[in-house]
Amino acid sequence: MADKFDVIVIGAGPGGYVAAIRAAQMGLKTACVEKWIGKEGKVVHGGTCLNVGCIPSKALLEASHKFVEAKHDFDDLGIQAGDVSMDVKKMMARKDKIVKNLTGGISGLFKANGVTAIEGTGKVASAKQVEVTDQDGKATTYEADSIVVAAGSVPVEIPPTPLQEGLVVDSTGALEFQETPKRLGVIGAGIIGLELGSVWNRLGSEVTVLEAMDNFLPMVDGAVAKETQKLLKKQGLDIKLNARVTGSEVKGEEVVVKYADADGDQEMTFDKLIVCVGRKPYTKGVIADGVGVDTDERGFIHVDDQCRTSVPGVYAIGDCVRGPMLAHKASEEGIMVADIIAGHKAEMNYDAIPNVIYTFPEVAWVGMTEQDAKAAGIEVKVGAFPFAASGRAMANNATEGMARIIADAETDRVLGVHIVGQHAGEMIAQGVIALEFGSSAEDLALTCYAHPTMSEAVHEAALAVEGHAIHMANRKKKK
Ligand code: FAD
Ligand code: NAD
Repeated sequence: MADKFDVIVIGAGPGGYVAAIRAAQMGLKTACVEKWIGKEGKVVHGGTCLNVGCIPSKALLEASHKFVEAKHDFDDLGIQAGDVSMDVKKMMARKDKIVKNLTGGISGLFKANGVTAIEGTGKVASAKQVEVTDQDGKATTYEADSIVVAAGSVPVEIPPTPLQEGLVVDSTGALEFQETPKRLGVIGAGIIGLELGSVWNRLGSEVTVLEAMDNFLPMVDGAVAKETQKLLKKQGLDIKLNARVTGSEVKGEEVVVKYADADGDQEMTFDKLIVCVGRKPYTKGVIADGVGVDTDERGFIHVDDQCRTSVPGVYAIGDCVRGPMLAHKASEEGIMVADIIAGHKAEMNYDAIPNVIYTFPEVAWVGMTEQDAKAAGIEVKVGAFPFAASGRAMANNATEGMARIIADAETDRVLGVHIVGQHAGEMIAQGVIALEFGSSAEDLALTCYAHPTMSEAVHEAALAVEGHAIHMANRKKKK
């Protein structure tokens, strides 16, 4: 039997590494097990988020957005940039460097906080034991008073479009293209489809997005989703709704995709195809048979509001449990669970988790949409303000989009904040704080915002809830 720990965390993604660091900070003897092999053939920390998710995708989104600005928008500002071109290999090398810095940084944080990093594949062998199998197949069993499973998720694959290296790829493969495909197919108009579709569209690909459902971004506030669809279409993303993929065939360097829409059977030929139809929990084999941790048929581990599994002392967090598959949700659960294990009271407000889609402009929201509130029978007041009326947005050359605030008609409490606009992902923190602190729309309206900022649109939307926006004509409110 090897070392004994107070806590062993399985998985070093944003759920697991945060849980491990917090537990160590709380004075607990902590280990974190990770098996991810990086590009250099060694175990790396950071999980999906740092290696193949949030960070590399944002590095490509930022580079491709700057390319579009330089190529198409600088002229409006009076900047003569001359011929602008993109070196895709250099863009990819920068992305890889950022990933390497950040994943290496987690190993540094483990050392600084006294977290023991264990390399290998972890398995919950019993309520108090974790078995780790290293790269040579050698198994070691560690004892722990508490175990946190943070095994994350992997892309869903669908039978009509089996992956084929370099040609039919998932999101991980789409972060590795070394040149811009001429014709790019994307299956799924979800968050990954819109973000990665945008990257390659900006660099010159003809992008077609095939989405099975007939409404666009159903989880987003209706007015914001409609505006986003219009803006992405204007940028050149051809989003086909109600398009159900039925098959695909690789023909040399091309892939032919068959799909059915309202007009019948269709087919399109692409140079690359990205399949991004959701992610599923990565829990197969993580818990030994007979331990008693309940999972559902899709592999999600059952947990309560504080991430306790059905076995006392065993917790699960992040993408492998219910709730949105978001890095910050996983991290907050990691902090909550570490605090609980350390004997503190802790809970999370699942109603105040922000969402951001990093297209241009960004789409960000927190809390209820107008349609959610109505479906729940809540009478609402809505305040909206367009960036077209914002001085800062004009100065920034970013007048597209709007901010919307949904407030309870009776109590004025803010129920949701929804923004499509430049820097929406930064502005949404105001909405999160409003929800966390139970603010009224009037609280936001009475707050002094710096001028000129994009955030003033949130202020104006709050004023507009009562029909008192200053920088636009208000719709008459019913008395
Ligand atoms: P993961 O990050 O998946 O980490 C789990 C870790 O556990 C992995 O390192 C894995 O190797 C390890 N592991 C699994 N099983 C074992 C085992 N048996 N033994 C040892 N180790 C094991 N979210 C956002 O919030 N914002 C974004 O902008 C964003 N962009 C994304 C872009 C893309 C392309 C993708 C794919 C995802 C994106 N996400 C984003 C989602 C985000 O990456 C995940 O929600 C987040 O990484 C989940 O964290 P986690 O710790 O639960 O799991
Ligand atoms: P998603 O759930 O966001 O979207 C998948 C889309 O594919 C849906 O619109 C669905 O209707 C569609 N679809 C499913 N099956 C289909 C089929 N057979 N044919 C055509 N369309 C089909 O999933 P995703 O985009 O793969 O992202 C996975 C997860 O990663 C998300 O849950 C998200 O939370 C997370 N993520 C977050 C960010 C971010 O926060 N900015 C970025 C990327 C990924």
